[in-house]
Amino acid sequence: MSPKVKQVLVYFTLIKKPFLFTFEPELKNNMKKVLILGSTGSIGINTINVIRNFPGEFEITALTINTKIDLLEPQIHEFNPKAVVVKDEKLGRELERRINGKCEVLVGEQGLIDAAKNLDYDIFVGAMVGFCGLAPTLEAIKRGKIITLANKETLVVAGELVTNLCKKHNAKLLPIDSEHSAIFQCLEGEDKNSVEKIILTASGGPFLNKSKEALANVTVQEALHHPNWEMGNKITIDSASMMNKGLEMIEARWLFGIEKERIDVLVHPQSIIHSMVQYVDGSIKAQLGLPDMKLPIQYALTYPARLANNNPRTDLAKIGSLTFFQPDMEKFECLKLAYNALDAGGTAPCIMNAANEIAVEKFLKGMIKFSNIPKLIYKALEKIENHKAPDVYTIFECDKETREFVLKLS
Ligand code: MG
Repeated sequence: MSPKVKQVLVYFTLIKKPFLFTFEPELKNNMKKVLILGSTGSIGINTINVIRNFPGEFEITALTINTKIDLLEPQIHEFNPKAVVVKDEKLGRELERRINGKCEVLVGEQGLIDAAKNLDYDIFVGAMVGFCGLAPTLEAIKRGKIITLANKETLVVAGELVTNLCKKHNAKLLPIDSEHSAIFQCLEGEDKNSVEKIILTASGGPFLNKSKEALANVTVQEALHHPNWEMGNKITIDSASMMNKGLEMIEARWLFGIEKERIDVLVHPQSIIHSMVQYVDGSIKAQLGLPDMKLPIQYALTYPARLANNNPRTDLAKIGSLTFFQPDMEKFECLKLAYNALDAGGTAPCIMNAANEIAVEKFLKGMIKFSNIPKLIYKALEKIENHKAPDVYTIFECDKETREFVLKLS
């Protein structure tokens, strides 16, 4: 924004003579300051693409990553953040040498927490994967920031705690996950009491048409080949097992304060309808768009405004038909496990999530079969004690205990 030079006519009463002078008001920076956690992952890179589309709207003040310093380095040169965090300490020191004082470099898990706790920002973008997102998100909430969340695990493991803390500190929680962004958009301008149910759509992943028996022998390569979405490895495997939809169902429960009996999962292989809300009069509102994360990210960053962009448009005539099916809970056991974990409450979703994170890592490393993912989760839910109404400490302990247990399983 260019400063407006103002001319002011001042009449000095003593000299009784008009006197003209000019001054430049101090430049007021109206740009929203953004902290991106996980800037080199799929959501982080898309967030940066959105920000690039709106020069003058956003200023990136900090970026955090786990390990990919080669990708972070050009981001630092392009956006001049005040600070960056590298979770891997050694790589963080390596980056510090490379950028030669261009910005502050924090390292380690504590660095992530310190960034959320101390740095200057308006919008927190939680684009990291897994349980590690919880601690920094809690710090951002305590500061009453705008929390845009792609990291669904945070709400899965601590949904009640997180949403209560948001109310207490007046922090606004905005979804980035495409399904939840769709529901959020469908709910705009509606009375929450007139919602009958939420219809969460699922692509069904690469194994929608495979038999349960065939699922046992799928390869990592096959599981990583999602038909519609380009995403990171962990979420792509979660999509193949449909655990992703289970996690999203729990995420929806807390984001929208609606019990699981009123959240339906509907398989919709084209991923054009991103989710729907059905109202008490029988009307259904849906949000449609191409499977591209830039739209939900942009909506979260600019909410409540809608800003024009040049992204490709949805050509329904070209798409032709949209189809829908009931999910097969016997085949996709992870989805059933998620419903059961939410039903059990307490730390059950935390146990399920930790067991899933380790099981997915093991599958990606070729250590277990795809069909063993739900088996490991089931064993963890059976073995680890469920603590009701857990506090933050209990959730962290439960996550740790579950990981240690599942690491030993095969
Ligand atoms: Mg999603």
